[in-house]
Amino acid sequence: MDSKVAKLINEQVNKEFYSAYLYLDFANYYAQAGLDGFENWYKVQAQEEMDHAMLFYQYLHNNGEKVTLEAIAKPDIELNDNLAPLKAGLEHEKYVTSLINDIYDAAFAVKDFRTMQMLDWFVKEQGEEEKNAEDMITKFELFGSDPKGLYMLNSELASRVHSAPSLVL
Ligand code: MG
Repeated sequence: MDSKVAKLINEQVNKEFYSAYLYLDFANYYAQAGLDGFENWYKVQAQEEMDHAMLFYQYLHNNGEKVTLEAIAKPDIELNDNLAPLKAGLEHEKYVTSLINDIYDAAFAVKDFRTMQMLDWFVKEQGEEEKNAEDMITKFELFGSDPKGLYMLNSELASRVHSAPSLVL
């Protein structure tokens, strides 16, 4: 594998674990706020991010590349109110989309079609992640200021369950 492509994928392992850590911090915030449905939604999101990290880890090993695990940064987003994690989540997913695009760009430059095919799943996944994050903000802005609305939204988010990623390497 091209060394730049391998390096970017190795960095992405770390970024996905950071995403998991960030979303666990969101869950942590909502647990303290008494919103257990929001907490559940972000705990599931954290599990999904660990799945992403493991997919990149496995892809490197499947292609004979070594993986170097670096320190995971401390989540440093200030969470002042119930809307703040949702807004920060959307910004974060846009950032992750840019990282996936950068890896795609590097793979495209060296005609690494195998990596591009693997990344196609992540390109689609990022579209879904951004939509989910936008939907959360929309729903919160519509219903979150009303106690009954917030109660029902919290109940809806409590039903999210983790499922294994559809990408098999
Ligand atoms: Mg991810």
